[in-house]
Formats: sequence, C-alpha cells, structure tokens
Amino acid sequence: MPELPEVETVKRELAKKVTGCTIAHTKIYLVKTIQKPDPESFVKCIQNSRINSVKRRGKYLLFYLSNHLCLAAHLKMTGHFSVCGQGSALHKHTRVVFSLDNGCDLRFVDTRTFGVMYLLCQKEMDQFKPLACLGPEPLSDAFTAQYLFETGHQRTLPIKAFLLNQSFACGLGNIYVDESLFRAGILPDRRTNTLSKDEWAALTLTIKEVLQEGIQHRGTSIQSYTSTDGRPGGYQDRLLVYGKDQRPCVRCGTPIQKQKTAGRGTHFCPTCQR
Ligand SMILES: [Zn+2]
Repeated sequence: MPELPEVETVKRELAKKVTGCTIAHTKIYLVKTIQKPDPESFVKCIQNSRINSVKRRGKYLLFYLSNHLCLAAHLKMTGHFSVCGQGSALHKHTRVVFSLDNGCDLRFVDTRTFGVMYLLCQKEMDQFKPLACLGPEPLSDAFTAQYLFETGHQRTLPIKAFLLNQSFACGLGNIYVDESLFRAGILPDRRTNTLSKDEWAALTLTIKEVLQEGIQHRGTSIQSYTSTDGRPGGYQDRLLVYGKDQRPCVRCGTPIQKQKTAGRGTHFCPTCQR
C-alpha cells in the first residue's frame, strides 16, 4: 500500500499537472469507488469545479476545489492517478475519469478496487471521521519525542502496532515502520510502555529521516506503486530490512528475521534491535 512518501510524491506531481484546471465532466466506471455522496450527486456537484490546490493528509490526497468542496481520495492497495490526453486509450481497470478543461483527463485506475473517494464540503472536513481521527503528520513540528512518549508510554501495544495506527502517527505503513525501528534499534514487538525517553527520541528522528529519504527518492516501488507518470520510485534500493528476510544485516551480518507483528509481515535484526 502506498505510504506517506508515495502519496506525497503523487501529490507533488498532481499539484503541478492539475492545479488551476476545471473539471468539465466526470465519468464513473466503478460506483463503489465513490463513497460519498451518491454517484449522481458526485458528478453533478463536482462539475465546473476548479482545482485550487492538491494537498495530502496522512495517506489521503486532498483536491481543494472551488465551490468550497474537497475531493478526498485514498489509493489503498493499488489506486493510481494519471494525467493524460483525452484521446488516449483507457486502461481496463479505470474507475473514474475527470475530464479537465485543458484537454487532459485525470484518471483513477485501481486493479484491486479498494481505492475510495469522498466529495466533502470543506467546512465538514473536521467532522469527517477518516480525516478527523488522523494523528499528527510525522514530518510536522507537532510530531515530537514528547508527543510520542505521552501517547505511547501508558499503552502496552507492540511498538509496531502503535506506529501503524493512523490516529497516533498518520501516513506510516509496514515498510517505513520496519525501516524506522531498525534504525532506532528497537524490536517491533517491544511494548510501548517499555520504551525509554531516549528510545522515543531516537525513533522520532529515524521516522522523520526515513520518510524524508523516501520522499527524496520518490517513494518505494515494491508491488504495484508507480508515480503519476508510471515511473517507479527509487527507495526500494535503499531499504535496510524490509523484504531482506535471511539476508545479512548491513550493520552486523546477522540474518534478518521475518515474523508476524500486528498482523503484518515484519522484518528486523535480532542483534541490532532490542
Ligand atoms: Zn544487525
């Protein structure tokens, strides 16, 4: 699933390509992609809206539109946006097409069909649960060691489950959590109430570092993720533990282990992480 660096990469590319464009008309090929409102109202409300800006919150892409509307989209497993000429052939898994006034389409292709879109009034966004429940952005100033300590130290969750919970740390997923924990030297199944203040501080730093590097390399392409123009990201070549099952640890040579933590395949070094 695309995580913060992948969604941020998509956001930056879309912002360049579609900001200022007006949505002339919309065609929905898969009704279930549109979660809110009903498809007919969706098409009608969004027509002639201008895309004022493209932003990101956690793993959500937010298209701020004129008419006080916001289109929130979650890529889930395989959702993918592209911008192409209106005459170009339609991919067979195309779910929604927004035809823009500049002769281009903004297309949403989604093989596994878990991707979703919501059309919201900007003023109702604070009450819209999936967005309202998100914790602070890990790259923001609000995401500090003190915040993580205060949120985590009275809980007894495995640290991996804690970091995957979007209401504590939004935008993180399996890959970047494994990488951050490895760099911070913390085992993924350590309970949050056992982490020292120094460990929370180290983890805060490594999370920010790993995410920033992920963005610099335009995300990680392991399964299906590519950016809006079909180019893969480059961070998969820099991963230290994720997907490295049985390969020697870059720091100590011990074979990297894989286990299930928080229901997810989790990679770690049993020597470097405690
Ligand atoms: Zn090691």
